[in-house]
Amino acid sequence: MLSYRHSYHAGNHADVLKHIVLTLCINALKEKEKPFLYLDTHSGAGRYLLQSEHAEKTGEFLSGINLIWQQSDTPELLNTYLSVLKRYNPYDNLKYYLGSPLIAKQLLREQDKLNLTELHPTDYPLLRQEFSKDKRAKVLREDGFAQLKSKLPPESRRGIILIDPSYEIKDDYHKIPKALVEAYKRFATGVYLIWYPVVSRTQTQKMIDQIVNSGIKRISQFEFSVKPDNNQKGMTASGMIVINPPWKLQEQMQTIMPWLKNILDTEKTGNYLIKELVPE
Ligand code: SAM
Repeated sequence: MLSYRHSYHAGNHADVLKHIVLTLCINALKEKEKPFLYLDTHSGAGRYLLQSEHAEKTGEFLSGINLIWQQSDTPELLNTYLSVLKRYNPYDNLKYYLGSPLIAKQLLREQDKLNLTELHPTDYPLLRQEFSKDKRAKVLREDGFAQLKSKLPPESRRGIILIDPSYEIKDDYHKIPKALVEAYKRFATGVYLIWYPVVSRTQTQKMIDQIVNSGIKRISQFEFSVKPDNNQKGMTASGMIVINPPWKLQEQMQTIMPWLKNILDTEKTGNYLIKELVPE
């Protein structure tokens, strides 16, 4: 049974990092007119009301997007991310946070396609509703990992694949390296974005090591922590593994990460990491 609901976590520091990387990658693919596929294996509901019982219960967005929303001077590289949010929040107060499918929905062009999967019985209808009039999108209540076999390579031979499970089921840590190897065999030139939490460093590092040793080339890592690793419950850091990163991404993140640290790491106990894990 799926008990994880992203509505408790929407807009936290992990979402901020994930969605900034996503917007930079989408912008990079848009530099060419040729269409591309956006495949989101674990989509969530798409839109999150920040005054909801769930969001207020954890208050996670308060130490994430809310801190960024209060800044008057933000790096230019965040313009796309913030402008997408502003369209749903035209007044100063931040009412909605947008998940990955709605961010992509606004940034993709007429020629591009979206393939979105979500299994949760409550979140799937919400997601489908968000795309009811969008002819570019397929919204399916199917297993996201299976899409990596059935939908790749895309017809356009260009694509961004976001793999963003909740890791509620520990098996996700084992499934990801295997599914990636399969997907990469079918579509070696895709831009793959894999989100990961650091709850147990050992468990996360094991998964990253398997990806690094899989034979896949061109892998980068971007990680942001608010606390040092520890043995207590809860997420101390999160990161993105990017396969085939757009050529400017590393440099862009060199500008963004110190700024993010300055704004989000309020207790000054965190850090960030930008690393090339596997070269060309
Ligand atoms: N990608 C979303 C975003 O950035 O806004 C957040 C996704 S959330 C971390 C993970 C989602 O995956 C949950 O909504 C959960 O119900 C869903 N899920 C879990 N297992 C799945 C599976 N095998 N296939 C598709 N969705 C799944």
